[in-house]
Amino acid sequence: MMKLMCATGLIFLARMAAADVCHVTIEATDQMRYEEQTLPVASDCSEVEVTLRNTGRLPANVMGHDWVLTKTSDVSAVANAGMSAGAANNYQKPGDQRIIASTRIIGGGERATVRFSLGLLDPKESYTYFCSAPGHAGIMKGRLVYKPSSAPSVARNEAR
Ligand code: ZN
Repeated sequence: MMKLMCATGLIFLARMAAADVCHVTIEATDQMRYEEQTLPVASDCSEVEVTLRNTGRLPANVMGHDWVLTKTSDVSAVANAGMSAGAANNYQKPGDQRIIASTRIIGGGERATVRFSLGLLDPKESYTYFCSAPGHAGIMKGRLVYKPSSAPSVARNEAR
């Protein structure tokens, strides 16, 4: 019960502090995995701020990870283009329009943040995030999923 109240309070404070910027954390590990296989975003977030935390110990050139969001159908093409772009470009092709949002590659203990507008996404489209380090995308990926409004009762009242 206390936990629920705290969570509700935190959501309320977050909404008050920054108009509808929703914060999500994704953890990446030395086991070449994202701890989170889905990224839940409330449909009433105007912007989503993703923080990637590399909880591992290995340096970026050994087990570095990034976070790249594209349409699900673009994942393999963007990953391949990134491979050619090389480490100097974080394995992301510079100016690749298919990349909706991305972080740089980070090593163990580091974190990187990226913010994007939810308005860039089509709710009917499927979106996947993946790690563009060579060979990682096969395992390191997850799906962006919409969840109901972060303030369900209010939104429901407004809608009807
Ligand atoms: Zn990775």
